[in-house]
Amino acid sequence: MNLIDGKAISKKILQETRLEVEALKAHGHTPGLAVVLVGEDPASRSYVRSKDKTCSELGMFSQKFELPADTTQEALVALVHELNADSRIHGILVQSPPPAHIDESAVIEAIDPRKDVDGFHPINVAKVAMGAPDAFVPCTPLGCQRLLLESGIETAGANVVVLGRSMIVGKPMAMLLMQKGRGGDATVTVAHSRTRDLAAVCRTADILIAAIGRPEFVKADFVKEGAVVIDVGINRVPDPSAPNGSKLVGDVAFAEVAPKCKAITPVPGGVGPMTIAMLMHNTVQACKRLMQ
Ligand code: NDP
Repeated sequence: MNLIDGKAISKKILQETRLEVEALKAHGHTPGLAVVLVGEDPASRSYVRSKDKTCSELGMFSQKFELPADTTQEALVALVHELNADSRIHGILVQSPPPAHIDESAVIEAIDPRKDVDGFHPINVAKVAMGAPDAFVPCTPLGCQRLLLESGIETAGANVVVLGRSMIVGKPMAMLLMQKGRGGDATVTVAHSRTRDLAAVCRTADILIAAIGRPEFVKADFVKEGAVVIDVGINRVPDPSAPNGSKLVGDVAFAEVAPKCKAITPVPGGVGPMTIAMLMHNTVQACKRLMQ
């Protein structure tokens, strides 16, 4: 079994991105990312901070907006419009999920699609479906595809099962893998909570991508001998032996599944670090395109 080291691969991508940032700066353009958080959710807060920190480490411009939970929809949309017009900003990310009184779709639709580095705007969703080269692809599925490419795992002709059909992970993941060309050309099945005999469907997979948000749900009997497993899940579960009383686990029961796999991602240290790396990559691409 090979462990797919997301930390090492994300470092390589960040290093490539740093070189691109330097080249852009040499021409007077500093890529800039604005990250907006509404509310106090601790996990979201820590994601926002690490995105901001990574930007600074790469020499990019970054602005972090931590707004109170009672921020109105109008105020949030007004901020997005300001950022659309700000020439220092090439990427805008509004951390999901916002508080319940905010209509997330309306906020996403307010973002200039050319600055939508999360790839959630309907224009980018359509472009991903069309296979347009200037689409912004959501960072997590883009990171999963990159993990497969960097690990030399052939997707062409492979049977891939994507477990989960969210707009953030499952659907764009399936789109990417069924596209023509490198990192695509797979035969893709998308499974979800209404799928009949889920374990049997998953066992057809040469590559199984789990993104359901259920701790250690995918057991050994879901996985064919010699399959590749990408675990997108990030779930915090109680762990009395840990100093803070909890630990992170994926959607895959790693200990029992790993011995059957040709390759597998760990949690943490698999898909997670790739998501931030691809966000930085997307922001640099946005800067390049806006400067053209
Ligand atoms: P969502 O809750 O939006 O979607 C979950 C999907 O899984 C749904 O399609 C749902 O089916 C399906 N599902 C849920 N329970 C079951 C079940 N028992 N059997 C079969 N299918 C099921 O989650 P996300 O896509 O946003 O996230 C999935 C996981 O990935 C989470 O653990 C999240 O934390 C993690 N994540 C990690 C990221 C990273 O950077 N590594 C980034 C984003 C997410 P249905 O549609 O039928 O309800």
